[in-house]
Amino acid sequence: TGMRVAVVGAGVSGLAATKCCLDEGLEPTCFEQSQDIGGLWHYTEHIEAGRPSLYPSVISNTSKEMSAFSDFPFPEDFPVFLPNAQLLAYLRRYAEHFSLREHIRLGTTVVSIRKQPDFGTTGQWNVVTEADGKQTSDVFDAVMVCSGNFSEPSLPLHSFPGIERFRGQYFHSRQYKHPDVFQGKRVLVVGMGNSGVDIAVEASRVAAKVTISTTRGAWLLGRVFEHGYPWDMVLNTRLMNLIKTNLPGPLSRWLIDYKVNQRFNHENYGIQPEKSCLVREPVLNDDLPSYILTGRITIKPGVKEFKDSSVVFHNCPEEEPIDIVVFCTGYNVSFPFLEESVIKVENKHASLYKYVFPTHLPKPTLAVLGLIKPLGGIIPVAEMQGRWVSRVFKGRGANGSPPVSQNSGQTGYVLSLPQEGSLEIPELRILKTEWLSYLDTLASFIGAKPSVLGLLCTDPWLALTIFFGPCSPYQYRLGGPGRWEGARQAILTQWDRVLKPTRTRVPAGSSSSFPSLLTVVGFLLLLAAVIFGF
Ligand code: FAD
Ligand code: NAP
Repeated sequence: TGMRVAVVGAGVSGLAATKCCLDEGLEPTCFEQSQDIGGLWHYTEHIEAGRPSLYPSVISNTSKEMSAFSDFPFPEDFPVFLPNAQLLAYLRRYAEHFSLREHIRLGTTVVSIRKQPDFGTTGQWNVVTEADGKQTSDVFDAVMVCSGNFSEPSLPLHSFPGIERFRGQYFHSRQYKHPDVFQGKRVLVVGMGNSGVDIAVEASRVAAKVTISTTRGAWLLGRVFEHGYPWDMVLNTRLMNLIKTNLPGPLSRWLIDYKVNQRFNHENYGIQPEKSCLVREPVLNDDLPSYILTGRITIKPGVKEFKDSSVVFHNCPEEEPIDIVVFCTGYNVSFPFLEESVIKVENKHASLYKYVFPTHLPKPTLAVLGLIKPLGGIIPVAEMQGRWVSRVFKGRGANGSPPVSQNSGQTGYVLSLPQEGSLEIPELRILKTEWLSYLDTLASFIGAKPSVLGLLCTDPWLALTIFFGPCSPYQYRLGGPGRWEGARQAILTQWDRVLKPTRTRVPAGSSSSFPSLLTVVGFLLLLAAVIFGF
């Protein structure tokens, strides 16, 4: 029989893990505590313990071409950025297409994962699951932990003096569903991550007043980027990556600073990040600048203290009356089913080789997927992790298989910045998780990294598209294990799938609804000019 692998969770990461195991001839069993697949993207009105909770208006902030599984493009008629229900529909199609359902046990919670007594020789795990109140214990050869990291809210009330005497209402963004709670109220949103900005924008349509308090500020990008193209298809290119990784640090920072301030000056809008943008995930929102400009949203510094019915901000003399506070202060991560000796999470850090393998296990038979925040879509990243891990499990000559202990510089994940005063400076680590470089690194471990130079001789048009165009995930299926026949075609038609849902009116006299070869060449040249011109 094949190697038995337990997969914890059937969200994006768990589905990818299950599919990758099947591709490698392993035998996955995927345990999902809720009654459906999709994890985060499975919206429910009620909040379930242990699973992320969305508000109904969440739309993906990464485009469909840059968020696809590498051998399964989104349907061409889906919008470019996906409302959560459509992302879930895509995940369902993926599960059907690759016959994953029969390997998934819904309504089954993993309660504990322990090393078998002979772990040193077998690397096996004892996995206890619970379904319908009944516990079952089973032995597995390996485990992929895909339990997500956005279900345990971080609500650091101790950082907000006076909150105990504040008489208004307050709650964490995980609790938020609909804007009617803000009707006619004076609202304070604490934290300027993506949740904070989304909720502030939504609240400002019904509230009397909305204020965002941010300690560090953030770079703000629009989904609609230069020339109306999706931001990630413009920024995540091999050419751009080459420039970013080869320029000296200060110059690269200056360029990014210049680029992100082209649309509007962050300083004038009060949201200028305190340190370089590279140390913090940018916020994706098309509305915030105009909402600030039209006075619907006001930006303030960090909270100094709460009073009975108002708040005082740092460096601001006057108090601001507030009725309701939403703490959009992010999430903590934990693995309640694992012993600390396997993964210890401390100050949002754990020691994981390439964000995946615990560094100190004598056998690499347990891996964590999706525990990373690169600047780009998570789906291709979790999938690439799954491809690498399943080959390491299988022992199939995948380079980069983690030895017993690793250089600590290569370990650790970053879920959020440490708070003021912390000694940890994760800047370098975040830089190391640059989306494209990370994907390339793992792809090179399994022999799936595309060679632009090699392709230049055999298929120059494809090579140019790969180098100048967006690094869409299909690039990692052109060769090596898991090669997909449709990869080349998927790359060459990526812009068609982007234009199809928006170019819905073609004026009379226009010959084609899609770009001709000439326009594509023109676009590539334009892209190069834009990049070199900045
Ligand atoms: P999850 O989706 O959280 O799935 C984990 C699953 O594990 C859940 O179904 C849970 O029920 C199950 N589980 C947990 N514990 C157990 C257990 N003990 N036993 C059994 N099952 C268990 N990323 C993008 O790339 N693009 C976006 O646009 C984007 N938007 C986002 C919007 C929001 C509001 C948030 C919070 C995140 C967003 N992300 C986005 C990041 C997001 O985390 C990933 O896209 C992805 O959905 C994560 O999938 P996952 O499978 O790792 O985790
Ligand atoms: P987050 O990105 O972790 O941001 C939390 C913010 O809270 C911090 O940036 C910080 O903001 C503030 N904060 C944290 N601790 C604090 C403290 N002790 N005191 C004061 N402020 C504190 O969390 P999130 O916004 O919930 O996002 C979670 C994930 O979901 C992210 O990956 C995000 O991209 C994703 N998301 C995506 C969408 C979408 O549209 N697709 C929507 C929502 C979320 P300040 O520095 O500004 O104070």
